[in-house]
Amino acid sequence: MPDNGAGQHPKENNNVDCQVCGQKLEYFSIGKKLACYHCGKKEIGNISCPNGHYICDECHGKDLYDTIRDYIITTPSQNSFEVAEILMGYNKVPMLGCENAWIAAGAFMASLKNQGSITVTNNQICEALNRTRKQAIGGYCGLTGVCGIAPAMGACFSVILGAACNKDRETATTMKVVGKIVNAISNQTGPCCCKNFVRTALSEAIKSAKEYLNVTLPSPDKTLICSHSIRHPHGCRKSKCPYFKMVATL
Ligand SMILES: [Zn+2]
Ligand SMILES: [Zn+2]
Repeated sequence: MPDNGAGQHPKENNNVDCQVCGQKLEYFSIGKKLACYHCGKKEIGNISCPNGHYICDECHGKDLYDTIRDYIITTPSQNSFEVAEILMGYNKVPMLGCENAWIAAGAFMASLKNQGSITVTNNQICEALNRTRKQAIGGYCGLTGVCGIAPAMGACFSVILGAACNKDRETATTMKVVGKIVNAISNQTGPCCCKNFVRTALSEAIKSAKEYLNVTLPSPDKTLICSHSIRHPHGCRKSKCPYFKMVATL
């Protein structure tokens, strides 16, 4: 187990401050060419700080990715919600950001593997995480309407079903699942909350696991109370969120 200080949420990890200089990040409605502070790669980006610091998605959270992957492939838990809550509690996991999409995909794959009705290998888990990493891009929930957690769940079903461009029902089913996830997430938006989206996507994904894979996975714990409410940089949705309880702010 990595030393992650689970349960503590230092302010600097809220993902709205520049990781380099601490200034508030700015969101551009039109993307501009930016150079990654770490690797120098130049690409079109929509988020940087007033000092021009930009970090590409590849460099973003490199160490954390390994930590999340290692936990996912070693946990014996069959409960994706339990796995997700533990990982979202790591203090290196930002309140908002596509690290939460890796967690969603990983938690779902771990629960499928450990439940055991179908064979899921660690290679398949890594494949789902790698695909998620390519399409879960910070800020794109708002920029294109596709939160990275939707392709994360799509990557899981795609890997399990063997979907690809040239396939038939495998790809159609994967797309249907992603459509349901986007729809479910849209009902929990205003503003976006990655923690809610992970739980909402997992709830929807376990319904699809039953429908399309005939696998019964554990349901979410009805008493689940979000402990991240006070961290939300855009403001917790509070009473609009099913995981918010007054106690969470005390
Ligand atoms: Zn900066
Ligand atoms: Zn980079």
